[in-house]
Amino acid sequence: MPRFVDTSPPGVCIFCRIARGELPAARVFEDDLTMAFMDIGQVNPGHVLVATKRHAATLFDITPEEGAAVMRTVQRVAAAIGDTFDPPGLTLLQANGKEGDQTVFHFHMHVLPRHADDGVGLSWPRKESGMEALHAYALKLAGALRAE
Ligand code: AMP
Ligand code: ZN
Repeated sequence: MPRFVDTSPPGVCIFCRIARGELPAARVFEDDLTMAFMDIGQVNPGHVLVATKRHAATLFDITPEEGAAVMRTVQRVAAAIGDTFDPPGLTLLQANGKEGDQTVFHFHMHVLPRHADDGVGLSWPRKESGMEALHAYALKLAGALRAE
C-alpha cells in the first residue's frame, strides 16, 4: 500500500490535533480513552483508525487500560463495518516504529475491510527455523516476562 507521508512540522502530531478538534476528521466513535475516525487514505470503503486520545507514540507507550480500550473499540467498529459494508474479510494492522511501517507516531490500529484481489499485500518471507530455535526464543521471552 502506498505509504502516507507525514509533513507535519516536528513536534506537531496529526492525531493529537484531531483529538483536540483542530483538524477535521470523519469521526465514527469515541469514549474516554479512544477515538475512531475514517482513514484519510481509504484502502477500501469503511477503513477506520482507532487511536488513543492521549498522545502515545507506540504500543510500548500506552497503558494496559488504553490497550484494552483500543481493542474494545476496534471490536465494536469491526462489527459496525461488517453490518454496514459486509466485507468478506477484515484485517487489523498496528504498526510500531519506522521499520514496522508506522508513519504517524501516535498509537493507532487500522480496521481494514478486505475484499478478494484488493491489492493489499501482507506477504512476508517465512523461515522455518526448527523447533530448537523456537524453544530457545521462547525460553528467552518467558524469562523476560518473569522478570517484568
Ligand atoms: P500508519 O502507517 O499505520 O502509521 O498509518 C497512518 C495512517 O494515518 C495512514 O493510513 C494515513 O492515511 C492516515 N492519516 C494520516 N493523516 C490523517 C488524517 N488527517 N485523517 C485521517 N487519517 C489520516
Ligand atoms: Zn499525538
